[in-house]
Amino acid sequence: MDRDRILLTPGPLTTTLRTKLAMLRDWGSWDADFNAVTARLRRSLLAVVHGEDTHAVVPLQGSGTFSVEAAVATVVPRDGHVLVLDNGAYCKRAAKLTQMMGRRCTVLPFDEAAPVSPAALDDKLATDGSITHVVLIHCETGAGVLNPLQAVAQVCEKRGKGLIVDAMSSFGALPIDARAVRFDALVAASGKCLEGVPGMGFVFLRKAILDGCAGQSQSLAMDLHDQYVYMEKTGQWRFTPPTHVVVALAEAVVQFEEEGGQPARLARYTRNYQTLVDGMARLGFIPFLDPSVQAPIIVTFHAPGDPRYEFKAFYAAARQHGFILYPGKLTEIDTFRVGCIGAIGPGEIEQAVHAVELALQDLGIASGEPAI
Ligand SMILES: *Cc1c(COP(=O)(O)O)cnc(C)c1O
Repeated sequence: MDRDRILLTPGPLTTTLRTKLAMLRDWGSWDADFNAVTARLRRSLLAVVHGEDTHAVVPLQGSGTFSVEAAVATVVPRDGHVLVLDNGAYCKRAAKLTQMMGRRCTVLPFDEAAPVSPAALDDKLATDGSITHVVLIHCETGAGVLNPLQAVAQVCEKRGKGLIVDAMSSFGALPIDARAVRFDALVAASGKCLEGVPGMGFVFLRKAILDGCAGQSQSLAMDLHDQYVYMEKTGQWRFTPPTHVVVALAEAVVQFEEEGGQPARLARYTRNYQTLVDGMARLGFIPFLDPSVQAPIIVTFHAPGDPRYEFKAFYAAARQHGFILYPGKLTEIDTFRVGCIGAIGPGEIEQAVHAVELALQDLGIASGEPAI
């Protein structure tokens, strides 16, 4: 097969030809043309969250996790105390990197099938005055749960705590308004719902806290304050920029704006999600989450109960039919995940459901019905 397979994963995602073609040129990192692309991209990103007056956006080389780590290291003082609201795998990753950055870290555990609770957060902050910052994962990509960003931000504001948001898998698709939701840092990346290619993250930092971040990072490469100051002064990235990733993201953002911005993207992903869930239901598959807590980003399905099912063989069969699925990330039960995001529409999702049907046939499985 010489066509690229369609990626139904939480990133990298299927991109448009226009985005891919943007990568066919070489750019000098000192060159005014490239610096203009960076400046235009930063303006466009700020506009997505309406953060022009209140926030600065700082791009950083690397995958999304690099930017989460950089945000913690830059925003939290070395003697700070971080509370991570944990309802899944990406929360656990955030807690781990916080500890490894040498910051005191407490984890508040929640069920991975439900959103985190702002009331439980409020109680915790009332009893432990030493907590300085809260980390929230907006869409927990592990199971696909949408967490209550606005309500968590309100609790943090009321209690005078900093808030760091990992909005990696929601940014660009779900509404985030910096004028209405108070956060110190919000992290996203090029290769998710903006439909760029992977290779850079970006962090929105509240201007009111920016100066206080100077010197807090114990890492040179991960210091977002330093990256910010250098970029403001020179228009350049501090160290070698991922030039092709930057121009691809700039091109992807132009298409995002042409499509109608965040509301249009959410509408397309919601159609993808509905088409997926309806189609998979016809094959007997049941989603793990209650629809009321599900973000239209990635869907976790129970594995089929048939003893012939095994994820690796199922993955290989679906791949043979042109679609890349994703393993589950739950601790207790056997699941797999299917993404709704990327430069695809309901037509591709219908084809994906058909590919899953063929994959089941290949494995001699009559139905996707789980054992439960
Ligand atoms: C994709 C993702 C990340 C970043 O993962 P990388 O593999 O480092 O790009 C972080 N948090 C969430 C919620 C994600 O979905």
